[in-house]
Amino acid sequence: MAILMDGKALSARQMAALKERVDALKSKGKSVGLAVILVGDDPASQVYVRNKGKACEELGILSRTLRLPAETTQEALEEEIDRLNRDEEIDGILVQLPLPRHLNEAQALAKIAPEKDVDGFHIQNAGKLFTGQPGVVACTPKGILYMLKACGVPLEGKEAVVIGRSNIVGKPIAMLLLNENCTVTLCHSRTKDLSAHTRRADILVAAVGKPRFVTGGMVKPGAAVVDVGINRVDGKVVGDVDFASVEPVAGYISPVPGGVGKMTICMLMENTVEAAERKAI
Ligand code: NAD
Repeated sequence: MAILMDGKALSARQMAALKERVDALKSKGKSVGLAVILVGDDPASQVYVRNKGKACEELGILSRTLRLPAETTQEALEEEIDRLNRDEEIDGILVQLPLPRHLNEAQALAKIAPEKDVDGFHIQNAGKLFTGQPGVVACTPKGILYMLKACGVPLEGKEAVVIGRSNIVGKPIAMLLLNENCTVTLCHSRTKDLSAHTRRADILVAAVGKPRFVTGGMVKPGAAVVDVGINRVDGKVVGDVDFASVEPVAGYISPVPGGVGKMTICMLMENTVEAAERKAI
């Protein structure tokens, strides 16, 4: 039976540690603030933004949500980002993705001051990760690595296979695992014979966006399987991993819900606290 990589328990422990850091800042008269910009009314985004607000509340972080109409122009969005860049109360700025189609995501993200880019999506922070320099690391990959390490999964010299090559999950987690001295294979929709790759993986990260995509036959016995997927099926949230068939084969497995999603929010809080701590020096 696989060991459960329990994001709920791990994030609860880390949130308690973060609360102490927020309190320490407050005792020196420094507050911590996060601003979230939400453009339009995508229902999934509404849920994510609400959860981020709740996490801020738990830690005593000032949380500000800017709700902009779906027809907001690029110029207006960038003006709001600029205003938050200058706002002394705000340590972290997050633009909730996806943006409506008429807006240029990359251009908006590039507007965020890199030191306030708590999502780690600014090209400067992505570039730092790729060149091995310290910077803000994107929350989901950071949370995955935290989870693997906290559960004692050996990384050095191990075969890591990542399915999915997005800028927000696949590529950065591949880079983080490479920095941990894993031998990394990055698979994607054009990969031939995917199972041949996944069956070699000591660490398998599924970030595909397809419900129950990874099945038991694709997994090496004893592997650590990280399920990043959030898919809605018949009103239920399911991951990219078919838990029922993979769990008996894997050595470690993260559940959905209660896995990577919890770690992501926790790492967003950590990045925000770190931004405030840097400013307070
Ligand atoms: P994306 O759509 O940007 O990327 C999906 C990737 O999967 C692509 O790179 C594509 O090449 C690959 N892919 C698609 N079909 C494939 C196939 N048949 N074989 C191999 N590879 C295939 O998605 P994303 O933004 O990286 O998100 C992936 C999943 O993770 C989604 O379900 C998303 O909701 C979820 N997600 C969860 C969190 C979290 O906090 N838990 C954060 C971000 C994303």
